[in-house]
Amino acid sequence: MTIAGIPPAPLPAEQALQLLREGNRRFVQHVRTHDSEEERAALAEGQRPHAIILSCADSRVPSELVFDQGLGDLFVIRVAGNVVAPSLVGSVEFAAATFGTRLAVVMGHSRCGAIKATLDFIQHDVDSPSENIHDIVDRCRPAVESVVHAAGPGVDKARLMHEAVRANVRQSCAHLRHGSRLLERLIQEEGMLIVGADYSLDTGEVEFFDGLEG
Ligand SMILES: [Zn+2]
Repeated sequence: MTIAGIPPAPLPAEQALQLLREGNRRFVQHVRTHDSEEERAALAEGQRPHAIILSCADSRVPSELVFDQGLGDLFVIRVAGNVVAPSLVGSVEFAAATFGTRLAVVMGHSRCGAIKATLDFIQHDVDSPSENIHDIVDRCRPAVESVVHAAGPGVDKARLMHEAVRANVRQSCAHLRHGSRLLERLIQEEGMLIVGADYSLDTGEVEFFDGLEG
């Protein structure tokens, strides 16, 4: 059955990625376009989001705004540090299996508090105020630790932060690609793409840097 306003087939991952690139360009240029009233009515009966976004919960990084997308366009999962835990893999699997979404983006951002907390823990032994927050730090830790060790002492702080954010995104992407048999099958057989991205709080630009084809 076709639902009014909803595309009958999944959008190929490369086309979905192009929509995000164009939307982020509009956001950076302050020419956002969406009319939520019409979209809301068309979507009341169902959805076919063209991209899944796993991003940080930081209040400055709302995916719908930074990609200039409307209601029903993005299946957004937000968690501090864009970490991957079983329920988050499950959320990505749910969207991919239920709605046929073929693009998943893991999006980190500059000056991420979760990454800062992880760096503070590794470098200065500053622990989190609760074990639940520590769980997030623990999930970021392997990626951030490898960046700290590779950099050695005396490295520029901003540079270290930037590289740690990206290493953490790469780690989450790898976890999604290899920590789920369902996603692995969709990648191999259905053209699903899992892509890493980095949002700049300063410029509003999103740079895609991991998992791109070609
Ligand atoms: Zn963050």
